[in-house]
Amino acid sequence: MRIKKNAGAQFRPYHPWIYTGSLEKPSDDIQHGDFVHVELDGTIIATGMYSRHSMIAVRLMAYKRTTIDKEWVRERIQKAIRLRQDFGPLPLPQTTGWRVIFGQSDALPGLVADKYGDTVVIQISTAGMDTLRDIIVECLIEELKPRCIYERSDMVARSEEKLPNRTGLCYGEDFEYAEFLESGRRYLADFKAGQKTGFYLDQRELRNAIGEFSRNKKAVDIFSYTGAAGIAALAGGASSVEFVDSSASALDLCRRHTILNNFPEQNITTTEADVFQWIADKKEPEYDLVMLDPPALIKSRKHIEAGKKAYHFLNRAALRIIKDGGLFVTSSCSAYMTHDMMVEMLINALKQANVGLTIFKTVQQSPDHHVPVFFPEAFYLKSIFCTVQRF
Ligand code: SAH
Repeated sequence: MRIKKNAGAQFRPYHPWIYTGSLEKPSDDIQHGDFVHVELDGTIIATGMYSRHSMIAVRLMAYKRTTIDKEWVRERIQKAIRLRQDFGPLPLPQTTGWRVIFGQSDALPGLVADKYGDTVVIQISTAGMDTLRDIIVECLIEELKPRCIYERSDMVARSEEKLPNRTGLCYGEDFEYAEFLESGRRYLADFKAGQKTGFYLDQRELRNAIGEFSRNKKAVDIFSYTGAAGIAALAGGASSVEFVDSSASALDLCRRHTILNNFPEQNITTTEADVFQWIADKKEPEYDLVMLDPPALIKSRKHIEAGKKAYHFLNRAALRIIKDGGLFVTSSCSAYMTHDMMVEMLINALKQANVGLTIFKTVQQSPDHHVPVFFPEAFYLKSIFCTVQRF
């Protein structure tokens, strides 16, 4: 597979994605999902996987000529595990939930593997990675010795690659929820039916920080999902937490998490509601701690303006319900919403809500969701901690 002579700005050396526009027309015998060598000026510079259907024609896996086989996959998985052992989260005490593989960042484009205690959940979103599925399962069994491996390959990206969804048990025992620890907090991953692989491991830094600032606070966890952040607030001494989400099954897990961690049930309430409605109806400052973690409101470039308005609406409304001196923790998991855009949005929101804000901490996706310098696209999650001053 050859890079065009005049590929110009489209081809970025060391960036792991090569767009169709940068490549000469591939020969007809190269199939969707094949592993290919990439040639620049007569020299093989890299090995990657080919997609016939994506704008990203080749996703690079190595910056040299190599053969993608079981030994190669095993080495990548071992490297990924070592990275987490050396730089987190594995050295964290009492933490048994972590991301083993973060796709392209671990040179395994389209593969996610999360470990919850002794359960491993995998997600495959590219045709190339799909051909390696059995090898991946074998290597994960050998390297991690899990009790079970479950597959959740049921995301939108699969249809873009013209792959059918596939979910189900790949190995080991079948059971309902996977229990794991995070800084001593006990959580359940709803790996069969929940969002993503069942839990948002990417928000670990946020949860650990919330635990530091929640003592005696009356808190609300908005877009709570299964309540991971609110449980961290309770663990940090919050006097009460209200969980708000539109999903009844997620709110059931908020209650289960409360019981599992031995927090008094009377300290929590669950509100099943559309947050946009719920927050528009609230006007009075009544909480000491507001945690706001909406789903990605900007999913693609063309949604930037509409998404920014939605973030603005939610943040402005959230500022109105925080007491003087209270804490606001606001997140965005949209890669298109940068940290600077969030700060600008907060400035506009605070003017309309007529409050002052002091930013005192920012956190990002946890280190098992790492961002290689040549692949800034992997960066998506930011959270800003600020205190609110009412005038
Ligand atoms: N804060 C969570 C993750 C939030 S994921 C955590 O750390 O685990 C986003 C959540 O928003 C999902 O649980 C989804 O059910 C919920 N959601 C999406 N749109 C919603 C809406 N309009 N109103 C209420 N909840 C919504």
